Amino acid sequence: MSILLGCIADDFTGATDLANTLVRQGMRTVQFFGPPGADVTVPEAEAVVIALKSRTNPVDEAIQQSLEALQWLQGAGAEQFFFKYCSTFDSTPQGNIGPVAEALLAALDQDFTIACPAFPENGRTICYGYLFVGDQLLSESGMQNHPLTPMTDSSLVRVLAAQCRHPVGLVDHRTVAAGTDQVHAAFKALRAEGKQHAIVDALSDADLLSIGAACADLKLITGGSGVALGLPDNFRRAGKLSSDTVADGLPSVPGLGAVLSGSCSEATLAQVAAMQKSRPSFQLDPLKLAAGEDQATEALAWAMAQLDDGPPLIYASAAPDDVRAAQDRLGRAEAGALIEAAMARIATGLVAAGVRRLVVAGGETSGAVVQALGVNGIRIGPQIDPGVPWTTTLGGPELALALKSGNFGVENFFLKALDCAP
Ligand code: ADP
Repeated sequence: MSILLGCIADDFTGATDLANTLVRQGMRTVQFFGPPGADVTVPEAEAVVIALKSRTNPVDEAIQQSLEALQWLQGAGAEQFFFKYCSTFDSTPQGNIGPVAEALLAALDQDFTIACPAFPENGRTICYGYLFVGDQLLSESGMQNHPLTPMTDSSLVRVLAAQCRHPVGLVDHRTVAAGTDQVHAAFKALRAEGKQHAIVDALSDADLLSIGAACADLKLITGGSGVALGLPDNFRRAGKLSSDTVADGLPSVPGLGAVLSGSCSEATLAQVAAMQKSRPSFQLDPLKLAAGEDQATEALAWAMAQLDDGPPLIYASAAPDDVRAAQDRLGRAEAGALIEAAMARIATGLVAAGVRRLVVAGGETSGAVVQALGVNGIRIGPQIDPGVPWTTTLGGPELALALKSGNFGVENFFLKALDCAP
């Protein structure tokens, strides 16, 4: 098997978001959770996304995991590489976006890449290097309250430069609007100045297509899923990708459904409230978990009683003040870890009880659930909402999974997803 595009994503839902874009642009795409072992059969696909859980790990660990993924993708014949992170540039002051990008560049013997998290379809745009969520600056969008990666500076040039050893430049919107050739020329000029990274402005999908075309000869691209929009066409223009591939076919997975939500983003809080209007719910509380209350067993027993009437909702999602209160008492990492461990146990119990269609909200939360279920890989199917497709597992256990990044999805996302499950 030889693939065209090899991708590394720093969290599980982000990986699925990227895979969703590639599928919609006609590339058959599979996603693995970590590099697959030698015993795993990789199905025919033009793109492989290796999902890591490296966003908030210590920098050295994130680099090591990313380099291992790169090595696997190189072995699979990938011609071009993509490092995917969140469209809200989620990172800590130490990284890991900058250090991982620099390590991948060095391993590929390259000296230039772009950094473009823009995702206009979901309201993430970049203008003069400043990231907006809808009409608000990143640092005023709610992301300043993220439980793990609070984003308090909207200047991506400044944020990335603080994480990098090499200088960071900017290709601003005037250049992007002038088209692919100008963007390409700007890359060349920045490279000549010794800039190793370029934040690239993008306000629309048309901008992303120009940028994508200008990246045809870059070995490594870094960004959100949006900038991948223009990459499949580069392969098509080079005669390497057919135009008639049906990329989003999935097998049908009948069975019961359930929703697990560990994201505390504003979008998820609204989705939890929306589902509560018509379905019963069970709330996990980090303080109760820390006090030794076995909420996972309680939640499972509760869910068993609901399952036959429709999908239950189990959530830890809470408003910023409650999250802060729990974190002040337990520590940020410990509060998250307690909830993730409970979600993992609940997911395993639900599947044992016959649930086959799971909607999971939150990147870290999805990571914990997928690992607990022993899922190695997924095939990407049709989109539910921008950035979130249905997927089915490769190998056992046979499940349909919708892994939703915190900020994505319309207000009735949970029930909407289950209504169109494969
Ligand atoms: P998102 O995709 O919105 O970033 P994640 O699942 O990646 O969501 O991150 C949310 C983090 O917050 C997880 O580690 C989760 O366990 C943690 N969390 C969820 N609910 C609470 C809560 N009530 N208090 C503290 N932390 C929480």
